[in-house]
Amino acid sequence: MTSQQTTVSRVLVIYTGGTIGSVQDASGGLVPLDFNEIHRHVPELEQPNREIEIISFDPPLDSSNVGTTEWLELAHAIKHHYAEFDGFVILHGTDTLAYTASALSFMLEGLRKPIIITGSQLPIGLPRTDGRENLLAAVDIATSTRFSESIVQEVAVYFGSSLFRGNRTHKASAESMQAIISPNLPALAEAGVDIIYNESLMYRDEAERFNVNNALDNRVAWLPLFPGQPLEVIQRVTEWPELRGLVLSTFGSGNAPSNPALKKILSETHNRGISIVNVTQCGHGAVHPERYATAHLLRDCGVIPGGDMTTEAALTKLMACLGRGFTGEEAHAFMSRNIRGELTRFSTLS
Ligand code: ASP
Repeated sequence: MTSQQTTVSRVLVIYTGGTIGSVQDASGGLVPLDFNEIHRHVPELEQPNREIEIISFDPPLDSSNVGTTEWLELAHAIKHHYAEFDGFVILHGTDTLAYTASALSFMLEGLRKPIIITGSQLPIGLPRTDGRENLLAAVDIATSTRFSESIVQEVAVYFGSSLFRGNRTHKASAESMQAIISPNLPALAEAGVDIIYNESLMYRDEAERFNVNNALDNRVAWLPLFPGQPLEVIQRVTEWPELRGLVLSTFGSGNAPSNPALKKILSETHNRGISIVNVTQCGHGAVHPERYATAHLLRDCGVIPGGDMTTEAALTKLMACLGRGFTGEEAHAFMSRNIRGELTRFSTLS
């Protein structure tokens, strides 16, 4: 059983851009809508028990243009307005939504209020849009309480009738209205006639005070392995003088070719103090460094097993880790520890 607050809840909607806020221009192309007009498209937003304020990125951005600067901007906006609002909804393009959700989860500490990110596949002005339902449900979730506390107290993503932990999400389809998935963790809530919360899965941060960790170090690289790959590419990437961290997307449960030349490159990289994190390039599952001999090479080079983290979570967590100044053993400990519910603890992971 859940309940809506009987008092007036205040929600801040932050519109960053993306399809949800676009309309078709005369040539049929999508251009951003003035989001202050949103009430005209979604009059149901007005409810007696809530007040909604909207702020917008100027100009609104396609999410391909969202990066560390915009993550900081979002984190600062939340910090600035944290005390004034009961919940926050971020409207975002779907393309990089999972990266923003992951990054914000590591930046925002001690959350006691919901940060719900959503977007849509079709513009909100079109008859078949999924944007209306996504926006209305996101606002409902941002105001849902139980025993006077927000039910969701973390960064979460609402999309296609499901609420997911933000740092577990991945964009899996450029077509489907269920574009965003959470491959390694069930939904936190499902919206049907009612919104049914899976309260046992909700993340609760132990930190007592709300705080923003805004130091992100983006001197990281991401390298997927593939059969027949020229090692020179890996060598060249690791030779970047600024490099501080590397995410390797490996085969299956964390395997790589048993090639001494690869071992040499990765060992030398590790010995230069660069943190290397291993995630699987499979759509689902985890890295198990003990399972196959082909994973032992990575373990022997000091590569950090990334468990079942998504690539989006691993990359943004690495930025947060390096931003906090962690290297070597400290970075290893931070990356293999569950910080914000991004990682399932496997008994064999150490
Ligand atoms: N290109 C758009 C974006 O990510 C797509 C979307 O909004 O779904 O900003």
